[in-house]
Amino acid sequence: MDHEQIARTVEALSPEDALAYLLGTTDASRACLTCSFQAEDMIVLDLLRKKVPDVPVLFLDTGYHFANTYEYRDRMTKDWSLNLVNVLPKQTVEQQESQFGILNRTNPTQCCQLRKVEPLMQALEPYEIWFTGLRREQSPTRKNLKKAEEHRLPSGKALLKVSLLADWTWSQVWGYVGAKQLDYLPLYDQGYLSIGCEPCTAIPEDPNNPRSGRWGGKKLECGIHTFSERTE
Ligand code: SF4
Repeated sequence: MDHEQIARTVEALSPEDALAYLLGTTDASRACLTCSFQAEDMIVLDLLRKKVPDVPVLFLDTGYHFANTYEYRDRMTKDWSLNLVNVLPKQTVEQQESQFGILNRTNPTQCCQLRKVEPLMQALEPYEIWFTGLRREQSPTRKNLKKAEEHRLPSGKALLKVSLLADWTWSQVWGYVGAKQLDYLPLYDQGYLSIGCEPCTAIPEDPNNPRSGRWGGKKLECGIHTFSERTE
């Protein structure tokens, strides 16, 4: 699989066409999607599940998500018959808090490393294609995102990271949700714009900067999209 050639081709294609091309040129049985059940993830999943109904849906279950997120995850898993893979950290919340205290207050980088990054690194090992719902507009840290990028995991394994909606705007996201009448995470109706773990997610003061509501504006990324090395 020539990742460079695939990346060049995919960059010019719509999400639907890119997906058709990728599934025709790669092994769909080695694809997965990381999904936090935010709107972008659900759009990618809606496109993907129609072609690969049993695609593994990796949910990083930190134990700190909103109750609404867990309820929505379970509802959509049932309604869409998803192949949900609940990715768990080594320690439960109780074990971690008893050993380290409440890291999301004292050291969120370590907390994300233990509860998201390390479990994801392991969970990605069996796959060749990693679909995400990332968009360039979401954050300055994502402005150079390509629709398809070769990434290398810390183990040395290379895989293709695909963000079909990389060039989509916020209004395109909600245009798709409305047109397809997708059920969406109810927290959006309360004013949340970027939704992760409950202790680290707030309604952003600046609606033009959705991720300013994450980690009290002190950081922009949890690390799951920065730990792997882009190789091109
Ligand atoms: S987002 Fe917050 S609670 Fe979730 S893993 Fe990171 S620091 Fe911990």
